[in-house]
Amino acid sequence: MSNRLYIVVPCYKEEAVLPETSRRLGEKLEALKKQGKIDTDSRILFVNDGSKDQTWPLIAQYHKEAPDTFSGVNLSRNRGHQNALLAGLSIAAAKADMVISMDADLQDDINAVDAMIDEYHNGYDIVYGVRSKRETDTFFKRFTAEGFYKIMQHLGVDIVFNHADYRLMSRRALEGLMQFSEVNLFLRGIVPQIGYPSTTVTYARAERFAGESKYPLKKMIAFAADGVTSFSVKPIRLVFFAGIIVFLCSLIMFGYAIVTKIAGKSTSGWSSLMASIWMLGGIQLLGLGIVGEYIGKIYNETKRRPRFIIEQVLDTNNAEQEK
Ligand code: UDP
Ligand code: MG
Repeated sequence: MSNRLYIVVPCYKEEAVLPETSRRLGEKLEALKKQGKIDTDSRILFVNDGSKDQTWPLIAQYHKEAPDTFSGVNLSRNRGHQNALLAGLSIAAAKADMVISMDADLQDDINAVDAMIDEYHNGYDIVYGVRSKRETDTFFKRFTAEGFYKIMQHLGVDIVFNHADYRLMSRRALEGLMQFSEVNLFLRGIVPQIGYPSTTVTYARAERFAGESKYPLKKMIAFAADGVTSFSVKPIRLVFFAGIIVFLCSLIMFGYAIVTKIAGKSTSGWSSLMASIWMLGGIQLLGLGIVGEYIGKIYNETKRRPRFIIEQVLDTNNAEQEK
């Protein structure tokens, strides 16, 4: 059995962290090779997600200096974290026996890699890196992130609590992943759907080594909404139940209207009328919005646009598979 490992790292404007990340990851890879845990043709694969700063020149330089350690993929433009990661995984799927994905900012403890590889050798196809604590995150980030995982679980989405995109996947798990063709990518939700034996490895999450988070609040909310609507139709069902409740209320209001009419007090209805107009209008708009969100998803999926376009690959393994 061969043990070729690829560590896939999506990078967007990461010139500030890349020198340190490449140094630490390079050392890690060397150590793993020396211990015989992985093959000597294992690689660190940096994916440049269309950054216009020094990210790609740096990656190209690392590859030139140490082609046995560093590989690179350059995307034609910025496509977002999930797509960049998928691009890297798709390249690695054709070359590696196991792939580990992690962020470029060293927030994921790279020492958890050893435990992940051990679990791979124990026969697991997917090893999820799970954060043991979130002390380094701000209260707000921790609160919103943990709330998000809870909501997802309530909505019946199979998702690993406190797991981001730090994970190991075997080649056959990757091949499974490649069969998912959705454009609205939410890898954390898709990976558990692949099946195969899986386990978790816990690690403490560190602070971003340098540079700024590429996930401002706006992107975080969009990402969370994407996660919910890509994996659960429960919000639409909630709209349906709201409709039933409003309908029942309307029956009561109807009875009330008739009774006041018969009692001859029908002119004093201004407040109840205003209340119902605003409430019903609000509920309808909300319902339309939720349903519209799903229609938007369908619109994007039907176009089947490519999720990423690869401009250049720098990698010395299996050159015959590259064009
Ligand atoms: N990233 C990317 N494309 C983007 C945004 C982010 O490839 O459009 C990468 C980024 O370089 C990093 C990872 O995704 O390696 C996670 O981003 P970040 O650390 O900024 O997110 P946070 O940890 O703050 O949630
Ligand atoms: Mg980060």
